[in-house]
Amino acid sequence: MAKVLCVLYDDPVDGYPPRYARDEIPKIERYPDGQTAPTPQGIDFTPGELLGSVSGELGLRPYLEAAGHELVVTADKDGPDSEFERHLADAEVVISQPFWPAYLTAERIAKAPNLKLAVTAGIGSDHVDLQAAMDARITVAEVTYCNSISVAEHVVMMILGLVRNYIPSHQIVLDGGWNIADAVSRSYDLEGMQVGTVAAGRIGLGVLRRLAPFDVGLHYMDRHRLPAEVEEELGATHHESVESLVEVCDVVTINCPLHPETEHLFDAAMIARMKRGAYLINTARGKICDRDAVVAACESGQLAGYAGDVWFPQPAPEDHPWRTMPHHGMTPHVSGSSLSAQARYAAGTREILENYFGGRPQREEYLIVDGGGLAGAGAHSYSAGNATAGSEDAARFGR
Ligand code: NDP
Repeated sequence: MAKVLCVLYDDPVDGYPPRYARDEIPKIERYPDGQTAPTPQGIDFTPGELLGSVSGELGLRPYLEAAGHELVVTADKDGPDSEFERHLADAEVVISQPFWPAYLTAERIAKAPNLKLAVTAGIGSDHVDLQAAMDARITVAEVTYCNSISVAEHVVMMILGLVRNYIPSHQIVLDGGWNIADAVSRSYDLEGMQVGTVAAGRIGLGVLRRLAPFDVGLHYMDRHRLPAEVEEELGATHHESVESLVEVCDVVTINCPLHPETEHLFDAAMIARMKRGAYLINTARGKICDRDAVVAACESGQLAGYAGDVWFPQPAPEDHPWRTMPHHGMTPHVSGSSLSAQARYAAGTREILENYFGGRPQREEYLIVDGGGLAGAGAHSYSAGNATAGSEDAARFGR
């Protein structure tokens, strides 16, 4: 029987379960491209429950224990003395969410001789050293599309939040003030602006579709071009390079995976090519941007604002400069972990486990690494290599 090691974020500070704001969530059966939402044989949770924290256990315990497997759930993931490292030695399956990633570095993979399957309960498997996973013939799978629309909604919120100066205006209310001039001195309309996405995959295309009614100019850069009819429907301009896109855009949103090709893509030189006063929204991965170049650009005014929900490492140390730089709209990594999204990625994780233990193939679109190479969605969207360097710094959080 297998040991399944599941790393989840901590429960709410006021205890588990929380008092829910709503009684139900809409049931999504298909995604915009026709792909079906997860189809496990069964689930042991009510959609809309908090599943991503330790007590939620992704709803997996009844299923795994009934099949005789051992499930270990922990939030203690960083450092050599962590519970994660202790259990890794004999784990066969590791499950982790990008919001609270259990970094699977080459060193850790070397300590896990039984490891066969690393599941990302969500999307984005850059917390795994993919090269080391290929070399060790570990399968890496994620729940493709489960929270792409959740993130696209968050991107639209953050674009509007920055351009319209929402957060400082809200703060004025909390502070008991009425300083209209202060609030509006940095407030603009999105209408008429040029908005570009780096990558037009599931999230990037979702952002383009959601922004089209705002009467903006739409731009995208992707290694694969969108179908001509989609470009035409959206009036979207394709760019061959990121440089060409950023030079004409007032708002840039990053929606590509983190892999060796995209690590630090937005460095000081790339940000210098952007229009002065552009807004940069990154909900993809923190490491796609150079941390200090972003801070310098927010301080100098080269960027009018930076927002996103992804950091490196995660959790971000308390002294991470993105917490305190001017004109930012950062959140912790939450966009893909709404209660709506959790129901889908918990079901998708269950589907992946059912297939693994049942000896059935995984859905092609869920695969990132398989059989010693990039596979499925991974072969389409990633490049071989490793993007986990520096992840050990996550252990500094809370110390
Ligand atoms: P998709 O695989 O649908 O889209 C990724 C797109 O990125 C593909 O179109 C791919 O292009 C493109 N791409 C890859 N490399 C490059 C590159 N070097 N330059 C330009 N484009 C590139 O994934 P999603 O849209 O669903 O998710 C994208 C990423 O968003 C995830 O990998 C993850 O990192 C992040 N994410 C964040 C979440 C959050 O909670 N903040 C939740 C979910 C995802 P092509 O395949 O055409 O070559």
